[in-house]
Amino acid sequence: MNSNDKIILHVGIDDTDSNEGMCTTYLTHIIIEQLKEQKIYTDDYPRLIRLNPFARYKTRGNGALSFRVTLDSRSQVELVEQIVLENVEKYSMFEGVNTNPGVIFYEGEITDEMRKYAINAIYSIYTIDYAEKFANHIGARVHKFKKGRGIIGAIASISIELPDETFECLAYRTQENIGTKRKLNQESIYHMDEKTYPETFDNIDKEGNYTAIEPHTPCPVLYGIRGNTPEIVEKAHNMVESYEEIEGYCIFRTNQHTDMHIQEGKSIKEMQINSCYKIQCKVIENPHDIEGGHVFFKVSDDTAIMECAAFEPTKTFRNIIRKLRKDDEIILYGGLNENNTFNIEKFKLIKVSPQYNLLNPVCECGKRMKSAGKNKGFKCPKCGNKTKSDKKIKEIIERDIKEGFYEVPTEARRHLSKPIIRMK
Ligand SMILES: [Zn+2]
Repeated sequence: MNSNDKIILHVGIDDTDSNEGMCTTYLTHIIIEQLKEQKIYTDDYPRLIRLNPFARYKTRGNGALSFRVTLDSRSQVELVEQIVLENVEKYSMFEGVNTNPGVIFYEGEITDEMRKYAINAIYSIYTIDYAEKFANHIGARVHKFKKGRGIIGAIASISIELPDETFECLAYRTQENIGTKRKLNQESIYHMDEKTYPETFDNIDKEGNYTAIEPHTPCPVLYGIRGNTPEIVEKAHNMVESYEEIEGYCIFRTNQHTDMHIQEGKSIKEMQINSCYKIQCKVIENPHDIEGGHVFFKVSDDTAIMECAAFEPTKTFRNIIRKLRKDDEIILYGGLNENNTFNIEKFKLIKVSPQYNLLNPVCECGKRMKSAGKNKGFKCPKCGNKTKSDKKIKEIIERDIKEGFYEVPTEARRHLSKPIIRMK
């Protein structure tokens, strides 16, 4: 058969899971295993693509799945589509209020307008209606279940270009264990981290001092290991000892930890709600705590003033934020929420501003002098010495923070946020 007769089929799936269980990655894993039984193999690792972190109806992580197969015949195309749809129908958490699965089948090469659609699905938030029109425009086959919101991410997952990428190896539990406590040899995870970090990362929460590869939901995922290459995540996976049977595992190519959601080159004035940015600015108001343990402060880049926040779930990160002072120069990474508050994911302190206390002068006798009244200088309360000048003395305040990068702890980090360990 001539290679020109081959059919490239892209399959995109999203929004099949709910907070109560299931996981679109697992569904994809099942589908890929069933395709293998039919001697159909994916061209590459399946893709796990994270979308706009502010998307309102997102399930756990707002991840959309896709894979590509090269097929010989129309009957093979039909077989793949049948297997995909059967499994989506069988395994989706349809009872979940916010579970609205969508499946996209697309034949041929990915076009520039598809790549543009995809990056904007990460920068902004699309409607289902817009996504469906776009899918029809590119000639994709659309399958919506319930409201079918999943088609938004399904198209993006197929189409997104990955200038930077990471990999995640997900190991799955057997049916009878789902919902029970995960049984992993914790020591083996520390050992794996020792041997593979920083090529793998987020294995251990260094602050909380607990292993971070296990999810805390009743989903089929036993654990997930994230890293820079497929080889390293597979190697790390083989180092983890499980006391329960592993149903199988699957390695995904992802845009996790790449900062793909961060837009550069925009000013504060140009920022849109529900979008994420990198912005150089100056602190114009010292941080203060508000009820609930959130820390707020204001910055400016000369185009506008913006309120910033490190929220309570960012834990120890707030202690660093509290050390910022007026006139510090920083580069912020994060996003503008619906209240026009910038949620900080990480920042680089580029200039620590000198800070002073203004104090009354000290008398020859060693006692701090007191004001003798407006424009009357200072007077020593002990020996009565006086000064003519009203000028206070500048006392340098030692700053307990250094220039450099600071980020939220592993637990609070968004899937898309690039950890400092991956920053060039
Ligand atoms: Zn004195």
